[in-house]
Amino acid sequence: MTSYDYDLFVIGGGSGGVRAGRVAAGLGKKVGIAEEYRFGGTCVIRGCVPKKLFVYASQFPEHFEDAAGYGYTVGESRFSWPDLIAAKDKEIARLEGLYRKGLDSNGAEMFDTRAEIVGPHRVLLKASGKEVTAEKIVIAVGGTPNPHVEIPGSEHCISSNEAFHLEELPKAIVIAGGGYIAVEFANIFNGLGVETTLIYRGPEILRGFDNDMRVNLREAMEKKGIRVLLNDVIASVSKTGEGLSVKTDRGHELAASQVMLALGRTPNTGSLGLETVGVETDKSGAIVVDDYSRTNVDHIWALGDVTDRVQLTPVAIHEAMCFIETEYKNNPTKPDHDLIATAVFSQPEIGTVGLSEEVAAERFEELEVYLAKFRPMKATLSGREERTVMKIIVNAADRKVLGVHILGHEAGEMAQLVGIALKAGATKDDFDRTMAVHPTASEELVTMYQPTYRVKSGARV
Ligand code: NDP
Repeated sequence: MTSYDYDLFVIGGGSGGVRAGRVAAGLGKKVGIAEEYRFGGTCVIRGCVPKKLFVYASQFPEHFEDAAGYGYTVGESRFSWPDLIAAKDKEIARLEGLYRKGLDSNGAEMFDTRAEIVGPHRVLLKASGKEVTAEKIVIAVGGTPNPHVEIPGSEHCISSNEAFHLEELPKAIVIAGGGYIAVEFANIFNGLGVETTLIYRGPEILRGFDNDMRVNLREAMEKKGIRVLLNDVIASVSKTGEGLSVKTDRGHELAASQVMLALGRTPNTGSLGLETVGVETDKSGAIVVDDYSRTNVDHIWALGDVTDRVQLTPVAIHEAMCFIETEYKNNPTKPDHDLIATAVFSQPEIGTVGLSEEVAAERFEELEVYLAKFRPMKATLSGREERTVMKIIVNAADRKVLGVHILGHEAGEMAQLVGIALKAGATKDDFDRTMAVHPTASEELVTMYQPTYRVKSGARV
């Protein structure tokens, strides 16, 4: 029998890679794991986690204003961007330490280096030039912001990576894109007092989300002072004496201190040695895998964003656990990508699980749609003009709940819980016989007894 240096070598120390490496090591496998930047990956180091910390920071000005309605006089407040960055960096360093500790305490060997595949079962550790062998290789190298070099002046733009380390808070920012990252950062910067413009090529932000969520969020963002330019794209970015000048296809000219491109991410598969062993990639560079995350090369697997299935941290972790079950516990398990609850940490947040009305209408003959739009209780005394929107999409034929969409405070938290109900196959009758928790916003989800309207053969009736 051939003997290898490692039972498993993982390339990439992000959510998926660390989970696969740590659990395999805990099962007694000899594991090596290489990471070229920082253990924790995009989510922990320059994604979900620092983003959420920024979201919290950006909400304080509204909290201070709202306090007046509750009898407080809040003194003059001052904000220090460098203090926020320093506090965030400290927390991220702590989390990175925990990721390392988890690997270490389970016996995985960490390499702070880029690693590349140089032959069947062979991995080159770039920093030392050493080659190691492994029975199985897992590629979990994630993705990177697409720099869109075809945009004239793209070299003056930042991506979300740099947004976490700006030396000073910009006075004005232009953000391109209409997806999660663009929308979340537009809200963060606006909340922090930055003059913010969002430019998106489509007719409405957040393509793929339920239309009521998209429209109501965009309107709420505009009310908060974000300028949203739809059906438009950046034509060029150039340097001026004071900062940057952005020209758009539709003739807008905008001055900004920073321009951020959030126009999608590309898989990190360049120069990884995939062609050396014949690992297949698709036209976007993503690694092609089967239902068990296996590549076309029998000893190589790929997990997480690099496979461009669903680019979400919990999905990468789930795929890693399925790999462990299948390969090390003799329990073949396919990742389940159905009914993934997700949140956009905009302000207000979107929390969603299941089908949008638009997609459900294409797939089912008749829908019942329950829609509630109301002023959240906290806004009564604060006087803040805002609305919470909740929507339930039900298949009329069997009353099964197909989708739940929430726009409002803590919508992400609600999506997590209602996701359990949908995963369990709940019907609208199950929602109806659930007692409300009063007074909450989420009680609305179990007290909408009559459909607001129906959709038959794709049309509202
Ligand atoms: P998305 O794919 O969500 O959004 C990319 C945006 O860029 C879309 O609005 C897209 O438009 C637009 N776009 C792409 N190419 C062009 C182009 N050539 N010209 C103009 N516009 C363009 O990617 P993000 O980068 O925002 O996020 C990456 C992934 O990270 C997401 O898919 C998400 O899964 C994950 N993520 C999750 C978060 C969360 O869970 N809260 C937070 C942040 C990221 P169009 O829609 O028209 O194609």
